[in-house]
Amino acid sequence: MSTDATIQEINEVMNASWEAFHVYRKLSLKQRAGFMRAIAKELEAAGDELIRTAMQETNLPEARLRGERGRTIYQLESYADACEKGEWLEARIDQANPGKTPPKPDIRKMLVPVGPVVVFGASNFPFAYSTAGGDTATAFAAGCPVIVKAHPAHPRTSYLAAQAIFRAVENTGMPAGVFAHVTGMSFEVGKALVTHTYCKAVGFTGSYAGGKQLFDWANQRPEPIPVFAEMGSVNPVFLLPEKLAAAAADIATQYAGSITLGVGQFCTNPGLIIGTDGTDLQQFIHDLGKAIQQTLPGIMLHQGIADNFAAKREEALMQDNVHLVAESNQPVADLAAGVPTVATVDGKTFLANPLLHKEVFGPYSLVVRCADAVEMLQVALHLEGQLTATLMATTKDMAANDALVEAVKNICGRIVLNGVPTGVEVCLSMQHGGPFPASTDSRFGSVGADAIKRFARPLSFQNWPDELLPEELKEGNPLGITRAVSS
Ligand code: NAP
Repeated sequence: MSTDATIQEINEVMNASWEAFHVYRKLSLKQRAGFMRAIAKELEAAGDELIRTAMQETNLPEARLRGERGRTIYQLESYADACEKGEWLEARIDQANPGKTPPKPDIRKMLVPVGPVVVFGASNFPFAYSTAGGDTATAFAAGCPVIVKAHPAHPRTSYLAAQAIFRAVENTGMPAGVFAHVTGMSFEVGKALVTHTYCKAVGFTGSYAGGKQLFDWANQRPEPIPVFAEMGSVNPVFLLPEKLAAAAADIATQYAGSITLGVGQFCTNPGLIIGTDGTDLQQFIHDLGKAIQQTLPGIMLHQGIADNFAAKREEALMQDNVHLVAESNQPVADLAAGVPTVATVDGKTFLANPLLHKEVFGPYSLVVRCADAVEMLQVALHLEGQLTATLMATTKDMAANDALVEAVKNICGRIVLNGVPTGVEVCLSMQHGGPFPASTDSRFGSVGADAIKRFARPLSFQNWPDELLPEELKEGNPLGITRAVSS
């Protein structure tokens, strides 16, 4: 149990972060990067205690948590490199041209930090999308102080990660208010943080209900602020006929693994598989069902998530024309176990019932049997925004289904060809975000160094003498960053 921060404590924290902002924003890219690398070192130094605590609080296995901490350290280090490299600053230089009519002034633009950022992490990534995770790292890189609202599902893990950040603050001489850790079980704590005058942006990873609530509060403020909420997604997979005919069994094996990976607790979990009815799709459904039956039900993150999964699964299975294909027939070891499940429905019913389009967070997937390619296209056209969509297709399938391919591109942030959507590489070309409701701003994503740009805004300097310009924009480019220059 974590105690709720009081309004007075929240005011103190926000005032301190506002003060720190005026110091931290002026630190060099190198100093910010040094701070981020120090956090990475402290996370590593937090050692087995951090892993053990997360194991107790999340039911996640040791190997997964060690891997996730490694990923979190990599995020901090690679975003630190990107911070120093400065490409994210989008520096633009238009030199003066007095000979032009009217004379063109010298104008130089770059991104500058927006101010204190409030970060809400998700329960399913206690390191990588939590206290010292991607939102915190990218906000620090942008020059913003961070206030983390600890996730109540892993309060001690969050506390230990926060201590690692505090040690890095001290070791690198950062202003004290550059980071704060706020606890609370009540939504009022989150509301007070998001609606505070000194909160200038929000990073959120979690459910649609949580993200949309924070987005609404932020927009109802006298001064609205941006909320970058990465929310749930059903990640549709389209099985095209030639590919399905050639590889139904292989695709079934591949997808049984992806649906049940991490007990289905990934935002990129494939919750919807769409094909054209016929013997190949029937074979696929049969093989997928067999593999699902043999998969052990894993223990979910906490009882609340397991109860939610059970309730949503039941609700989906009770809908008209939805048939259970298979569920795990392996022994259930725990009340918080998530039972791997596959169901099926015809395309017409699916199109008419929006409840079937919603995420069932856990190891559940619905196979939609379309009457033909026209109905499959209708499904693609009627789906909401998604983090990912996948096409299982041959080159011939792609050519013969151009309208479908274009419709799918239109609804997602990442389009996978002949693979699975689970597994999100941390690299510059990754897009982790998508049209609403996958995220609240489809122009940005939360993975890869471009995510730094979420917490920065453009500022143009007009007619400034070289000695007064920020280093990033000086004529001689002393930082050696990439800039677009024209005269
Ligand atoms: P969650 O219940 O929404 O919690 C996320 C955070 O938001 C928690 O700190 C939570 O605090 C807070 N929160 C939720 N509702 C709130 C509200 N109405 N007002 C104020 N604060 C609120 O999400 P979760 O259960 O941890 O994670 C599972 C979900 O996250 C799934 O839907 C999954 O698809 C999604 N997810 C998305 C991504 C992505 O990158 N897009 C990544 C991972 C997970 P409380 O606990 O106090 O409610």
